Amino acid sequence: MIKFSHIAKVYDNITPLKDVNGIIDDGEIVSIIGPSGTGKSTLLRMINGLVKPTSGDIYIDNIVVNDKNINIITKKVGMVFQSYNLFNHLNVIENLMIAQIEILKRDKQLAYEKSMKLLKEVGLESKENAEISELSGGEQQRIAFARTLAMDPEVLLLDEPTSALDPNSVDMMKALIVKIAKSGKTIVIVTHSMSLARDISDKIFFMDDGIIYEEGTPEEIFMRPKKPKTRSFINTQRTIEFKIDKSFDYNSAISQLIEFCKKRNIDMRRINKVMLVFEEVKLILFEKYEEPEIILKITFKNDETKLAVHYKGKQFDIRKTDNNISLKLIEGLSTKIEYTYDEDEEYQNEAMVEMRN
Ligand code: ADP
Repeated sequence: MIKFSHIAKVYDNITPLKDVNGIIDDGEIVSIIGPSGTGKSTLLRMINGLVKPTSGDIYIDNIVVNDKNINIITKKVGMVFQSYNLFNHLNVIENLMIAQIEILKRDKQLAYEKSMKLLKEVGLESKENAEISELSGGEQQRIAFARTLAMDPEVLLLDEPTSALDPNSVDMMKALIVKIAKSGKTIVIVTHSMSLARDISDKIFFMDDGIIYEEGTPEEIFMRPKKPKTRSFINTQRTIEFKIDKSFDYNSAISQLIEFCKKRNIDMRRINKVMLVFEEVKLILFEKYEEPEIILKITFKNDETKLAVHYKGKQFDIRKTDNNISLKLIEGLSTKIEYTYDEDEEYQNEAMVEMRN
């Protein structure tokens, strides 16, 4: 069990945490959400002693987190950083084995077997001898995950575990986190991804005003927030994302979209308009590419709806299509169409269409 007791953190210019109190039970997945700068990462880092509270205490299984107990704490707690922190001069299996051998004094063969088992669990056993630089961001994230798990932590801290991942890796990461929690570990996540928090957490801490402003189940926080700042925060989260490829299920996407809008009191007419535009964009892209891979992000702002369509492949501005009918329809429904190409992105093309309500 993790217990926060009257935690405050004061920096020279800012006091992000004023009086944080809360309990995380063994085997729970808890997501910490809230506006930027409300001290979420600070609180997460306090759990493994990386940041010290100005006042108040954190307890893990009734042991207070302080310098004197730091060895016990680092044994119990593992953290996967947003930047992964993998050793680039070591290959994958060496990255997984080194701390087991050096810190836990684990026998080399045992460390190897443990590492292989975890590589399998994260779906990367074929990368045993790969160099870190050969791996994609999603793969590096999973290796960082496996490396932390190799130390057998009881508590796992995850800082923005999906922020750099493509939608496929996000799904895999979600499944992995749930599986690890089922094995009895306690997992604490700081995330900006509302879908991650909603889909996998047992409990949500919404941080604001230097405290855990509201806590509850995902259902309570996302569907029936009680306090004004929680309500307003949840309402500003107005972007929904879909991945469109061969396995795209149009009907299920539509029902998700309708549910999303219902919860936020978004007028259903806006859905029709945005789906009309999207249908035409999709048509253009399916004519252009043999097997298009598209990510669609829809943002409902107060007075306009924004449709960002990211797609893989050769540079292609949808405004240059031969399909004049589709283009005319899109132009008729929108106030602005923009296009950008960035070859360093996985989805290199982005078309942005804005619509007035
Ligand atoms: P969040 O994760 O909710 O975005 P953080 O915990 O990263 O918030 O930061 C909370 C506030 O504390 C921010 O305003 C940040 O600039 C400030 N802060 C974080 N670390 C330090 C530091 N070492 N020194 C001074 N200010 C800091």
